[in-house]
Amino acid sequence: MAIAILSALAEEQQGLLERLRQPRRTERAGRSFWQGELHGQPVVLALSRIGKVAAATTVTTLIEAFGARQLVFTGVAGGIGPGVQVGDVVVATDFVQHDMDASPLFPRYQIPLYGRERFVCDVRLSAALLDATRAGLRELGLQATVHHGLIASGDRFVSAAAEAMQLHKVLSEAGHPPLAVEMEGAAVAQVCHDYGIPFAAMRTISDRADDTAHVDFPKFVNEVASRYALAILDDFMRDLGQSRV
Ligand code: SAH
Repeated sequence: MAIAILSALAEEQQGLLERLRQPRRTERAGRSFWQGELHGQPVVLALSRIGKVAAATTVTTLIEAFGARQLVFTGVAGGIGPGVQVGDVVVATDFVQHDMDASPLFPRYQIPLYGRERFVCDVRLSAALLDATRAGLRELGLQATVHHGLIASGDRFVSAAAEAMQLHKVLSEAGHPPLAVEMEGAAVAQVCHDYGIPFAAMRTISDRADDTAHVDFPKFVNEVASRYALAILDDFMRDLGQSRV
């Protein structure tokens, strides 16, 4: 009954690896999977890799080969909702694929054969992640705003203000106003939906998906996002260990 902790970035995983008890590494599908214990809980750690297909492969392997029965995903994202600033955190309620378009066969954004545009996160696990996020940021002495809402995913690093605005506008007009944009979450949500695996996700805002996104992103990852993820996940695993969620 392992809980899978999926990290988008190696910098985020590093702190977890240092805390992992009885670590065992297995290579599979060209990826490294780390099994062990955190706060007395069996866990398996993996890097999602970048983009929807790569992330879907990682999650499928976590479930099929490593017995993951719950999954929590951390990473960074571009803030595109009003008031979603660099340094804020978004805990996802659900995900939409902003590059899915099988129209006119299916409505824009609908995932063919699923009859839905969005995949929702597990309410209980997301509430626990939201609590851990607030507690983790408090422990770091940070006043960052924590948002809770929709995240859009697609195979594109959005790095132009005009594009970010347009993306927010068309998604909002279709009834899917997103807080943030990234490249993996919707794929992970879809695979977890297929297997009936409870899933929660948080993203630290590394950039505003605008013309300086490519400069802001790497700087932020190294300096801030890894500390956020570690503090939040440490709280999350400790609470999980205590409540046996
Ligand atoms: N230089 C990085 C590449 C990261 S791609 C490397 O070599 O590892 C950007 C990653 O951050 C993706 O995983 C995506 O999910 C997230 N992300 C952050 N800001 C984003 C933005 N503005 N648009 C899309 N994805 C973004």
